[in-house]
Amino acid sequence: MSGGTYQNIPRDEIPWYPTIDSNLCLNDNVCIDFCSNDVFRIDDINTVVANPYNCVVGCSSCGTQCPSGAITFPDKRELIEVLRTLRAKYSQQRNVESAR
Ligand code: SF4
Repeated sequence: MSGGTYQNIPRDEIPWYPTIDSNLCLNDNVCIDFCSNDVFRIDDINTVVANPYNCVVGCSSCGTQCPSGAITFPDKRELIEVLRTLRAKYSQQRNVESAR
């Protein structure tokens, strides 16, 4: 899924993905088993966010599954603002390209 787009915005420009607090993480694989998008992996013995841009924009369901509260996400209000800015940027670009 990385390299894709979300609402015509390159996915890797959207700062939405989980962060794991390694001090809280139990390495119990709950998030790996829960998420089918290959976001999480085990790196040696630690669970890591291996493919952040595979995360579905706006989804934070794995955070509610984590028994130790180790997973956090950005603020959804900030996401809305970022998406508004990026939508304007990419719709302007499309307009310029279609006027050529
Ligand atoms: S569910 Fe939480 S505690 Fe378990 S591996 Fe994932 S981040 Fe770590």
